[in-house]
Amino acid sequence: MLWGGTVRRLLPFVLVPFLFVPATTAEAARPPTPSGPTATGYGGAVTSVDPTATAVGLEVLREGGNAVDAAVAVAATLGVTEPFSAGIGGGGFFVYYDAKTGRISTLDGRETAPRSMTETAFVNPETGQPYAFQEARVSGLSAGVPGTLATWDAALQRWGKRSLAKNLRPAGDVARRGFPVDQTFAQQVKDNEAAFAQFSSTSALFLPGGEVPAAGSTLRNPDLAATYDLIARRGIGAFYGGEVGRDIVTTVQRPPLAADPALDWQYEIRPGGMTLADLRAYEVRRPAPTHVNYRGYDVYGMPTPSSGGATVGEALNILERSDLSRLDKTQALHRYLEASALAFADRNRYVGDYTPRPLLDALLTDGFAAERACRIDPAKALAKPVLPGVPDGRYDGCATTSGGAATDFGKSTTNLTVADKWGNVVEYTLTIEQTGGNGIVVPGRGFLLNNELTDFNFTPTQGTAHDPNLPGPGKRPRSSMAPTIVLQHGKPFLALGSPGGSTIITTVLQILVNRLDLGMSLPEALAAPRATQRNTASVTAEPAFSSSAEGVALAALGHTYTPTAEIGAATAIEFLGHGRLLACAEPVRRGSGSAGTVR
Ligand code: GLU
Repeated sequence: MLWGGTVRRLLPFVLVPFLFVPATTAEAARPPTPSGPTATGYGGAVTSVDPTATAVGLEVLREGGNAVDAAVAVAATLGVTEPFSAGIGGGGFFVYYDAKTGRISTLDGRETAPRSMTETAFVNPETGQPYAFQEARVSGLSAGVPGTLATWDAALQRWGKRSLAKNLRPAGDVARRGFPVDQTFAQQVKDNEAAFAQFSSTSALFLPGGEVPAAGSTLRNPDLAATYDLIARRGIGAFYGGEVGRDIVTTVQRPPLAADPALDWQYEIRPGGMTLADLRAYEVRRPAPTHVNYRGYDVYGMPTPSSGGATVGEALNILERSDLSRLDKTQALHRYLEASALAFADRNRYVGDYTPRPLLDALLTDGFAAERACRIDPAKALAKPVLPGVPDGRYDGCATTSGGAATDFGKSTTNLTVADKWGNVVEYTLTIEQTGGNGIVVPGRGFLLNNELTDFNFTPTQGTAHDPNLPGPGKRPRSSMAPTIVLQHGKPFLALGSPGGSTIITTVLQILVNRLDLGMSLPEALAAPRATQRNTASVTAEPAFSSSAEGVALAALGHTYTPTAEIGAATAIEFLGHGRLLACAEPVRRGSGSAGTVR
C-alpha cells in the first residue's frame, strides 16, 4: 500500500493527523491506517473526503464486510465528521456494481416534498415574489423527507453482509468519543454562524459557548451517537414514523428558535408542512441506471430525479463526435465546455422528477447528440445561453428552439467510492444540499435537516415551455449528483463522483475527459484545474484553469471567465487489473481527501 502526498505540501493548512482505531480493536493496538489522497493496493479500497471515515471503511472491509457494508459505515461516519455536507437528515444516490451478476443497480434516496407542498411554495404570498435564497433555505419549508437512512437500509437488505446496527457502530463510537475539528469544519461553521445562531439546538451543538469551535479542538456529538444506537436497536422505523420522526416533524413545523440569537438574521424563519404521514410514506426507488457507450467504455449513471446521468451522458455523446485525443488541448477543452453548455440547456428544459423515461433515453441517443454537436463552432464560442434541442427522433439539422440558463446555488455534499475483494463497487453521493443544510439541528438527535427542496425552481424558468422542476406534492427536486461507474468489456474500469451542486456534472465529465481522452493518470485527472460551463454567459473557472495556456487560448475563442476558488471534491477508484486498485481523493480541494487500500 502506497500513499502519495506530493501535492499535500501545497495545502494552505495541515490536516490534523487524527487516526481512527475502532473500539473493538483499540485494545489490540492495531496500527492505524495511514491515508493520503492516493493509494494503490489490493483487497479492497475506500476513498472519501475524510481520513476518519476512510479508516472506518477500511476496517469494515478488513473485518469481512463487503463494499456495501463499508459504504454505509463510511457514510454514517461522514454524518458525524462532515455533518454540514451529509447525514441522516439528508438524501443521496447510490450506484452499485455487483460482481456476481455483472449488473449495475441504483438506489434513489432523494428527499421528497411533503404532500402539502404546492407549486408556489417558494413564492411569498404577501409580495408575489420568490423568497430570497437564504430565506427559503433557513426554514422548515426547505426540508424534504430525508432518504439517507432508508437508502442504507435498502442497500444492506439487498446486498450487505452485515446488519445496519453493526455498520452504524463505528460511526457511533466516533460521535461519542469525539473527532478533531479541522480548518474546513471550523470555516463551515463560521460561514453559517448567523444561520446556526437562530436555533437553540444548532448553537448548542456547533457553537459551543457561543463560539465557532477552534481548529484542533475535539467535537463530541453524544446525541447523534444515541440516535444511531436507537436506530440500531429498533430499526429505521424509529425514524420513519417513530420517535425520531416525531422530533423531525416538530422541528420542521416549529423550528426551535434561540431565545437570544447572537447575530442578526434578516429573514423570518418559516415553518414547513412535513407530517409523520410523509415520513411513513417515504420510499427508496430503484430506477434502471442511465447508460451511454463512450469510445468503447460503458458509462452508467443516475437517472431522474437526478440530472447527473442524463447530462454527463449527453455531453459524452456530443464529445464522441470528435476524437479529442487527436485535437490540441485547447480544442479538446473548447468542445468540453460547449458540449456541457448544450447538455445543460436540454437538462434545464426536459429533466425533472416526472420526466418520462423514454424522453430521458431520447436525450441519450447518438442521433440527438449528432444534431447537438453540429452546433459547435471550432473557431468561436457559442453565445450563451444556448437553446435546448428537440429530442423527437427526427435528427436532420441543427435545433433552434428557445431556452434558459442553469439556476443552482448548491456547494455542499460529499462523495465516497468503495471496492471490495469480491469485486463489488459502490459509488455514492449524499448531501443535505447547502453546506449546513437548512441550519436546523433536530433537538436532542444531533443531526441537521436538509434544505433539498430549494433545488426546485422557485418560479418557472423555461418561458412559455413547461418547467420540469417546479415544486409539487410528493415530488423530488431535480439533482445534479452524478455517481458514475464505467465498465470496460463488462468489468469495472473506473468509479467516480463529486459534490458541488450543478458543477458535479461538469466535474465528473471533466475527469472522464482528462482520464479517457487527454492521457492523464487518475490522480492527474482529479488534480487538474477545473472549469464549468452550465449554459451561462461565462465559464466559472478555477484561477489555475483561466490562467493556463489553454485558458488564455479559450478566451481568444470567446469564452469569458468568472473566477471561483475551487470546484468539486471528487473521489474515484480505478481498476488496474489483476485485483489492483488505485484509490484517489482530492490532493488539495476541500482540505484534501483520504484514500486507502486494504493491502
Ligand atoms: N443539492 C445538490 C444536488 O442535488 C447537491 C448540493 C451540492 O453538491 O452542493 O444536486
